[in-house]
Amino acid sequence: MKKVLILGSTGSIGTQALEIIRNNKDKFRAVGLTGRSRIDVLLAQIREFEPEAVCVGNEEDAKRVKAEFPKVDVHFGESGLVEIASMDCDIVLNALMGISGLAPTYEAISRGRDIALANKETLVAGGEIVTKLCKEKGVKLLPVDSEHSAIFQCLEGNGGSACGRAYAEPETDGIKRDIRRILLTASGGPFRGRTIDEMRNVTIEQALNHPNWSMGSKITIDSATMMNKGLEVIEARWLFDVPADKIDVHVHPESIVHSMVEFMDGSVIAQMGLPDMKIPIGLALDYPSRLNLLPEFSGKNRETDGSLDFFTKGSNLTFEQADRKTFKCLDIAYAAINEGGSAPVVMNGANEELVAMFLAGRIGFTDIADTIERVMGKSSFASPADVKEILEIDKESRRMARELV
Ligand code: NAD
Ligand code: MG
Repeated sequence: MKKVLILGSTGSIGTQALEIIRNNKDKFRAVGLTGRSRIDVLLAQIREFEPEAVCVGNEEDAKRVKAEFPKVDVHFGESGLVEIASMDCDIVLNALMGISGLAPTYEAISRGRDIALANKETLVAGGEIVTKLCKEKGVKLLPVDSEHSAIFQCLEGNGGSACGRAYAEPETDGIKRDIRRILLTASGGPFRGRTIDEMRNVTIEQALNHPNWSMGSKITIDSATMMNKGLEVIEARWLFDVPADKIDVHVHPESIVHSMVEFMDGSVIAQMGLPDMKIPIGLALDYPSRLNLLPEFSGKNRETDGSLDFFTKGSNLTFEQADRKTFKCLDIAYAAINEGGSAPVVMNGANEELVAMFLAGRIGFTDIADTIERVMGKSSFASPADVKEILEIDKESRRMARELV
């Protein structure tokens, strides 16, 4: 029985993880849950899963939870997330949104807990110190992001990868299979093929209308600007210890091939499946096993049994180059990781602030990329020493972004 702490249990990833736990009660138990908004959803989750500890956004909500569940250990706020991250468990699923995921993840790793990581911003802002601590503590960092789960699977049995196995067992099995490049796939988002002018006046609803995935609003806007892919390049750089110039983005509108790895002998290994986050969430939670998410194969209902059918949904797989001139967030992210130091922290902080402003109707869609560029132009990028310094740089970058719009 694996004891799972879910940070961000009321979100898109969090609720799908609980669905997996509900259907696999013999394997997992949710010992901790957290949610900042949608408190009624969280209360229902506490009723159903009976966790030992909970974290909410503020003191008022904490009192509400305590009144209904006096036996539950209740935390609140930013400090509460770090407190709950230190609780006894086997694995922490980080499904928080944005930089809020960094401090609790760092705390959980320092306690030796394995991490199932959905929250890519943790690695964008803290990649260097987080992966260093994982190596020191022998902690597994198992990717939940679908592309990174794909790369992780492509690397299994092929010399291993920096995350998962290798962080837990630095002496891998001695296989030498050099990676030539990582082919990171991207759907292209709702505005694929448009010009910058055509994107200037798009509405919030249009930007939230992702063609293939249903996700939280921040990552959905990141997908529309393609900053999501930029964040994922940086995430892959740290998870797999591969330089950014060996990570090559391929737009693949069908979202069936979740990413690929090309080896030095010319062989390319891909991982495929229908776009369903339960696959990577399940693998990260159950690793190295795989869950049974499909019915037994009968050959009869292949189009409707929930599997990937290559005669229908998988029959036409296409790839195109990313338009990095139009979707300049991708270039900004490559420049940030090449610059190093705090550049990715500054970029990430500005992006988070600007996406929130766009979602609040305060700026236009193309202002997001334009303003990040200006914040980057005005910043210097000394390396942050610890989580505290990263969070200070994040704050300053948000302040600059607000000032510049
Ligand atoms: P979401 O917005 O649906 O859920 C976020 C969760 O975190 C909620 O429980 C929310 O209450 C909580 N939260 C948000 N801000 C918080 C804060 N400041 N303090 C405390 N709690 C806070 O987001 P999501 O779509 O589930 O995404 C979560 C993470 O997973 C993101 O980093 C995202 O990039 C990544 N991810 C998501 C998907 C997906 O399909 N949704 C796919 C790949 C990666
Ligand atoms: Mg992804």
